[in-house]
Amino acid sequence: MQFTNEELKQKINEYKKKLSVTVVAHFYQRDEVFEMGDITGDSLELAIKTRDDNSEFVVFCGVGFMGQSVKVLSPNKRVVMPKAACCAMAVMIDGIQFDSSVKALNEAGIPNENILPITYINSNADVKAKVGEMGGMVCTSSNAKKIITTALQEGKKILFVPDRCLGQNIANQMGLKSCVIGDGSSLLDADIICFNGFCSVHQLFTVEDIKFYRKKYPGILIAVHPECDPAICSAADFVGSTSQLIKYIRELPIEQKVAVGTEFNLVNRLRPKNTFVLSSTKPECPTMNETTLKDVYAVLKSIDEGEPLNEIFVDEKTQKWAKIALERMLAL
Ligand code: SF4
Repeated sequence: MQFTNEELKQKINEYKKKLSVTVVAHFYQRDEVFEMGDITGDSLELAIKTRDDNSEFVVFCGVGFMGQSVKVLSPNKRVVMPKAACCAMAVMIDGIQFDSSVKALNEAGIPNENILPITYINSNADVKAKVGEMGGMVCTSSNAKKIITTALQEGKKILFVPDRCLGQNIANQMGLKSCVIGDGSSLLDADIICFNGFCSVHQLFTVEDIKFYRKKYPGILIAVHPECDPAICSAADFVGSTSQLIKYIRELPIEQKVAVGTEFNLVNRLRPKNTFVLSSTKPECPTMNETTLKDVYAVLKSIDEGEPLNEIFVDEKTQKWAKIALERMLAL
């Protein structure tokens, strides 16, 4: 049976009243799904706020690593996803590729005891667990600089996974040397050694886009996410995480024009006018956009029927070490 969006919203709200569920939605979700969220935010905010929530089920509207982070931090909760969507960046590395990266450092003459791994939160639980087991921790785009500053105090080389752009951008900001495994440069010379992962959505923004907007609207500001290429971040006026971008842009005078380099759904909701998407190609995250109201309704119905769809399970060992890696970050 086909329902309209309004009918689906009504049915979702009825299930929310009937069941012990909290619907959680990431900033990049479609507008109509985002509207259904009891808790909204970026990936870390969602994991922390959900930890303090009392519902039995978390219906997580986002991508897999985010749902896993909730499960890792709150193993007693039942986490289900309306769509088993995955982040293209997170799936670029798994435990085996993490081990190969460590081996590449070893072969360059850097022993394990001189390596401190840091993983961006956009990674799956198996990679977070590997990092935790090696004494490392998780970071987000808003706290990466602080985490790396603390990590460097140990006097070790940082192995940064999976996002090379975030690793390189932080290194540039801090005046540190970085390299990417496999780019031909010497690993021994770098302070931050990055895995060659990236976000396909944030790769869409180009220096030409920045030149276009600056020429078309003299005085326009350019604000971008640090998952963009270092060339874009160097040419921007502001570089910040999702939450930092939201704050920066909402505090601008309304007549100030700004072009924003991050995911379309977020930019579209930011401000009523004078806000532009910094790309001629619509920068939508395809997997974030997979989740529809129909999926949210279906997953709630499955909980009500006692057979939850797309439930997330994390094995005990992975959960233990991934949690340690996350909690080391939270402690800072
Ligand atoms: Fe992953 Fe990029 Fe989509 Fe974020 S926007 S979920 S990093 S693919």
